[in-house]
Amino acid sequence: MSESISSVQEIGTDELPVIEPDPSFMKQMLEMGSPQISPCFQCLKCSSGCPLGFAMDHLPHQIIRMVQMGLKHEVLASSAIWLCASCETCVTRCPNGVELPRVMDALRQIAVREGVRPAEEEIAKFHDSFMDEIRCSGRVHEMSLIGRYKRRTRQWFQDAGLGARMFLRGRLGFLPEKVKDRDKVRSILRKGGAR
Ligand code: SF4
Ligand code: SF4
Repeated sequence: MSESISSVQEIGTDELPVIEPDPSFMKQMLEMGSPQISPCFQCLKCSSGCPLGFAMDHLPHQIIRMVQMGLKHEVLASSAIWLCASCETCVTRCPNGVELPRVMDALRQIAVREGVRPAEEEIAKFHDSFMDEIRCSGRVHEMSLIGRYKRRTRQWFQDAGLGARMFLRGRLGFLPEKVKDRDKVRSILRKGGAR
């Protein structure tokens, strides 16, 4: 015990990270479509079942706690919000019905809107490409999506062999299909807070 006290004294308070909670963060989250997270009692069932937890810097239950504490900067800079695959495993395991994928959605949207540098840049580029595709066609055409993503990442030939095989097996449609009322789709996106 005395050893840990002396090591803190040696570090000095000047070198400890400054954490500035944002009390309005939860209000902003709700405006961006996040569900209420107050029922969470930190049982960890979401994190113990999350298939992407091994790669995240903060586990799903920790993200919830950080949002509750108003740690906006730390949450928006985390890799977890970009790695979440919206698989809903956590939702089915949560005893309180906390909809974590919607929490992650709201966090991604706030991060994009506020220009926070994403911890997972390639996933963020895929996210932007996906949203552009929805705005343009009202739905996703895989070939166009791949084109948008490649233009952003400039990794032209990564996965080229896999793409060719999928195309030959008819898994990638050649011509895009657009929904008729694309303005309505754009208006839904705007109402949902998407940039
Ligand atoms: S499973 Fe639900 S209640 Fe438990 S920590 Fe996760 S979000 Fe909170
Ligand atoms: S929805 Fe996201 S946080 Fe929940 S289990 Fe799937 S990857 Fe993990």
